[in-house]
Amino acid sequence: MTQTLLLLPGDGIGPEVTAVARRVAGRLISQGLDLSITEARFGGVAIDADGVPLTDETLAAAKAADAVRMGAVGGPQWAGQPYDKRPEAGLLALRSGMNVYANLRPAICFAALADASTLKRIHVEGLDILFVRELTGGVYFGEPRGIETLANGEKRGVNTHVYTTSEIERVARTAFELARGRKGEVVSAEKSNVMEAGLLWRQVVEALRDAEYPDITLTHMLADNMAMQLVKNPKQFDVILTDNLFGDMLSDEAAMLTGSLGMLPSAAIGAAGMPGLYEPIHGSAPDIAGRGVANPCASILSLAMALRHSLGEPELAARVEAAVEAALNAGARTADLGGNLTTAQMGDAILAQLT
Ligand code: ATP
Ligand code: MG
Repeated sequence: MTQTLLLLPGDGIGPEVTAVARRVAGRLISQGLDLSITEARFGGVAIDADGVPLTDETLAAAKAADAVRMGAVGGPQWAGQPYDKRPEAGLLALRSGMNVYANLRPAICFAALADASTLKRIHVEGLDILFVRELTGGVYFGEPRGIETLANGEKRGVNTHVYTTSEIERVARTAFELARGRKGEVVSAEKSNVMEAGLLWRQVVEALRDAEYPDITLTHMLADNMAMQLVKNPKQFDVILTDNLFGDMLSDEAAMLTGSLGMLPSAAIGAAGMPGLYEPIHGSAPDIAGRGVANPCASILSLAMALRHSLGEPELAARVEAAVEAALNAGARTADLGGNLTTAQMGDAILAQLT
């Protein structure tokens, strides 16, 4: 049966890098992949055209698709608007509407880029961490939330850090399953010493491991210690399991150890059989938008994650990843990697390896 991929190119460099992923998908289709591709407006462009970042129609299309490939949303023109007129509100609504509770964020340092003279940035050769971050709960969604005015005229901002057993269990299960295909090791981060939801997190993760994943080595680490360990000795980690808030920060920190924001994809997945949401970890990069110089690798690697986790095509995923790696090995570089290829030329170099 034909599977469907919905593209949400978004804002800034989102459409530029999504166009390259679309060409890669087109190549796979011409080689026999049974996939139909559609597109919809999302983010700032949707605010301008439709008044909201995520229309009901787009959310319905996302839920009906087999996989959703997002570009990036946001930009200075929409910053500081009321919450429901911000592109980021659409992103949170899309994630929770699709119920994609597990965010997979690989932090990989590509061997071809492990040369300090190329990147001129911190990078850790051989780094290969997979973050599994809880994405639809915790303090970003907990109620009550808001800014209220107190009797004395002072204001108070409120967010609530809250997790239920089932919310913790389902994302921990994703981490344990993925760890079985890797080194069989999971390090779980929280602040169980000062946060009750963190204490429950530790207890539930431990109980699930004992009951169903005795083959997995589980280590608990306080999130602040993990922030330190990621700088001190990042190669000690393989699969890292975190809540929404700590995962946001720790996975950004780890991304910086790979040397290149433009290389890293991400996936947000939910229950088996439900569509996943795939996107580069980088933002809309307003500083380089419209110039055709953005690195399309993260966008293409996000397509590979969609092939692996939603479209049942792990071998095609590996082929796409190998093509990106081969292009890098052959010296193809966009500006962020120290080269001078345009977005489209980098796409050509990768397509040339996808035979
Ligand atoms: P957001 O809030 O949307 O996550 P951000 O503030 O984290 O955005 P990005 O948009 O990710 O920022 O950009 C951070 C820096 O990295 C910018 O200088 C941008 O030009 C650069 N950058 C991001 N993505 C790419 C890419 N694909 N290719 C080249 N440079 C990139
Ligand atoms: Mg960012």
